[in-house]
Amino acid sequence: SMYTSNEKRYEKMQYNRCGKSGLKLPAISLGLWHNFGDNSDFSNMEQMCFTAFDNGITHFDLANNYGPAEGAAEINFGKILKESMHKYRDEMIISTKAGYYMWPGPYGDWGSRKYLIASLDQSLQRMGLDYVDIFYHHRMDPETPLEETMEALAQIVRSGKALYVGISNYDGPTLEKASAILTELHVPFIINQNRYNIFDRTIEKNGLKEKAKELGKGIICFSPLAQGLLTNRYLNGIPEDSRIRTDGRFLKENQLSDNKLNCIRKLNDIAQKRGQTLAEMALAWILKDDYITSVIIGASKPSQILDNIKAIENTTFTESELKEIDSIVAS
Ligand code: NDP
Repeated sequence: SMYTSNEKRYEKMQYNRCGKSGLKLPAISLGLWHNFGDNSDFSNMEQMCFTAFDNGITHFDLANNYGPAEGAAEINFGKILKESMHKYRDEMIISTKAGYYMWPGPYGDWGSRKYLIASLDQSLQRMGLDYVDIFYHHRMDPETPLEETMEALAQIVRSGKALYVGISNYDGPTLEKASAILTELHVPFIINQNRYNIFDRTIEKNGLKEKAKELGKGIICFSPLAQGLLTNRYLNGIPEDSRIRTDGRFLKENQLSDNKLNCIRKLNDIAQKRGQTLAEMALAWILKDDYITSVIIGASKPSQILDNIKAIENTTFTESELKEIDSIVAS
């Protein structure tokens, strides 16, 4: 296509250093977990990528299994790259992952050297790339020795198929062990990808948040809007075009209990007092800690991306706002 990016794309976005590395990431990144599969509209996918990039979102987050079907998001993104965005490749940070189920048999899941290396080769082929910028091990594997998984990441970097590596869904103690192995192997391990939002404080409890800071590693947070719950989406019922209705694989209607909806409404009141949408406030709440590198948002339409970018305009909270938010989610 004739896509040419907005010349002013770098004027408003904030770029944060990823831990103590040389790499900077936009405060807001775009994830392709939902709405980039076989059942989604291709021109909407294109418009979401263009809107993101036109507004300084340089980072696109994928995984081998994003779809449906598995691999479809990488194929669709590869098509957008090839047809429209290829000339901007050096202005983009593209990540992918392996660690969840991808193909049948013993070699398409978890954390073996066999799986990681084969999976990244498949991902590169689907996206039409020679290398990704960041390759992640997607989840801890209790059975594969950590040394084997980390040595696979090392080989991937040495072979030029990834520039940096990350780990996702690890906890603090396992991060510390992984980091020690990767340091010894001189691997540019720079980032942790974990779920973090106003409702889900797991990384504050499992040591990941503190340990990453101590080790100088970045943290990029997924599902920062709790898949859409922390937005105005569900304030007045469940819209037909919402994730609960269109793709309830991971966000089920029963997660929207009366109590949850009450919390969401109270949080929305605080956001309104701050002059933000609830989505903006939910993202700002994560970005208030200056060692969080980025939040990875999902979107079903370009307008949501434009709303979410506004979060960076106010990431300061008063003590009383923070206490009120904590007491609402504890109730
Ligand atoms: P979010 O919590 O940001 O949820 C995104 C959804 O919220 C959108 O699809 C949309 O839903 C709704 N939404 C977004 N912005 C707005 C807005 N401004 N106003 C109203 N509604 C809005 O993130 P995801 O759960 O989608 O995850 C984001 C990314 O994180 C993934 O794409 C993936 O890259 C990564 N991820 C990584 C995982 C891992 O294990 N490493 C696991 C999960 C995600 P609707 O369809 O209702 O419009």
